Amino acid sequence: MSVKRTPLVAGNWKMYKTIAEARQLVPDLVQGLSKVGGVEKVICPPFTSLMAVKALLEGTDIKLGAQNLYWEKEGAFTGEISPKMIAELCQFVILGHSERRTYFGETDETVNRKVRAALEVGLIPIVCIGETLAENEEGKTQSVIHRQVQAGLSGIQLQPDNSGDVPLVIAYEPVWAIGTGKAATGEFANRVVQEMIRPTLSMLFGDQVAKSVRVLYGGSVKANNAAEFFDQSDIDGALVGGASLKAEEFIGIVKAAAESLE
Ligand code: PEP
Repeated sequence: MSVKRTPLVAGNWKMYKTIAEARQLVPDLVQGLSKVGGVEKVICPPFTSLMAVKALLEGTDIKLGAQNLYWEKEGAFTGEISPKMIAELCQFVILGHSERRTYFGETDETVNRKVRAALEVGLIPIVCIGETLAENEEGKTQSVIHRQVQAGLSGIQLQPDNSGDVPLVIAYEPVWAIGTGKAATGEFANRVVQEMIRPTLSMLFGDQVAKSVRVLYGGSVKANNAAEFFDQSDIDGALVGGASLKAEEFIGIVKAAAESLE
């Protein structure tokens, strides 16, 4: 049975934009994105701007995501933010981004705890995976991807709902392409999704779920190269860092996703 996956474009603002700066950017995004149909749009500002951005997105079809959470329900965890706190504001949460793995010691095991905690409160995790340059050059892409998917998603149950949607998104983000201006080719990224990510999902959850999970590409996506990824059979959108901070660029990327449906 063939499945239809709605394209999704998510903007990861990383540690950029104060509340005041977010209030300048979001109205431009709303104006440009409201005219683009058929694509799910998500913006993921820093925690401090979530409330302000949520208010500005009221009445639009743009969804909100956070960039991290802690897996415990509540407690003496100074500086951390619980799944329920995020779920009060957001529909999505980015988990296991390579910057968190590199600078904040996140592992497949901690990512797994976060994924489980997010699903428990009804958040849709955008789980980031991807090999480093050294791993790529040593021919380890397949084993890294397999390990990250298997360990990151271990012990979770996934079922398509009545409309066929699965509450999980994977972002394939080769670390060497993030913030470097050197995007992977569409053909390479599609091969990783088709030959490594979906087969591992199929092994874990069965064929139907593997076909239904949306898999994004991330790594130096811009308005002028986005179509190369959206034209691929197994890539369902993009996780966008730098280019999501500029309204014109992000709108251009979302439009490219919409055009790929035509
Ligand atoms: C990201 O932060 O997930 C990302 C892909 O960044 P960039 O688009 O800037 O490479």
